[in-house]
Amino acid sequence: MSANTCRLCGAKEPNTTYSGPIRAGGADSGTVDGFSIRGCAACGVEFLDPFPEDTEAYYTGKEYWEDHHGPVNVAKLYAKHGPEQRRWFYEVSGEMLRNQRVVDFGCGAGIFLDMAKGLAAETIGVDLAEHFREHLEANGHKFLRGSDSLAENSVDVVVSFDTLEHVPDPLAFLQEIRRVLKPGGRAFVGLPNQDDFLKTFVPDYIPFFYHLSHLYYFSTRALQFAFEQAGFADIHIGNVHKYDITNMLVWARDRKGIGTPGSDVFDRYTEDTWRGNLERQGIASHLYAVVRK
Ligand SMILES: [Zn+2]
Repeated sequence: MSANTCRLCGAKEPNTTYSGPIRAGGADSGTVDGFSIRGCAACGVEFLDPFPEDTEAYYTGKEYWEDHHGPVNVAKLYAKHGPEQRRWFYEVSGEMLRNQRVVDFGCGAGIFLDMAKGLAAETIGVDLAEHFREHLEANGHKFLRGSDSLAENSVDVVVSFDTLEHVPDPLAFLQEIRRVLKPGGRAFVGLPNQDDFLKTFVPDYIPFFYHLSHLYYFSTRALQFAFEQAGFADIHIGNVHKYDITNMLVWARDRKGIGTPGSDVFDRYTEDTWRGNLERQGIASHLYAVVRK
């Protein structure tokens, strides 16, 4: 597919919305040159150009995980991703999972499934990262290297967090989620927000936001289009902000993030109010979609 065609909707002549260094891997990995970001006026999506044609091997081995997190260490991943996954779990709300057959597309170390396990009838992780199999099975989940073996109309709930932006064909990915869902079954999908306020508030954040392993950057409009194209109904797209006020202040001060460090300055009320403000305005760090088959 040529870079002159939108990879999501097929419209001609997407604009170049950014050209310059982008993030190579994890937070301290530095940047790479030679890429630009193309943006489609028709559907709103942005995508990486040149587009990496074969990413499967990258995710199948440990390379992706080592590039982003160093040597694979589940305890470290718990510490880093635990708080984010707790937020996703809170959004899904545990009761949605009671007695359900739940599949996590892009399950990684299975942190969400660990939380779902006490409620769900069955917890299944789908991921290319075969090296998590043993860990997931030890925690009582089924691990699948791909979703082909899941029967059509067999799953009550699909969750997929911070994964859609990595897959080469998002429509095929969403169609596969829809295939395995029972009629009326729900999918909960979270991913970075193209309209993240920090891009305009601290422009030096932009080469960090754009990322070699993120092939697509969805806006609310682009995500709505993708779910509609994949055949979903009742599409609700909101925002989730994953980071705290101190993260923004450190970015503004140092032009470099340090995650969600917390501080003694802002209390819980202030943090919640600030996050709520970003989420209401649609300018938070992540999009969060709830859809139905
Ligand atoms: Zn498009």
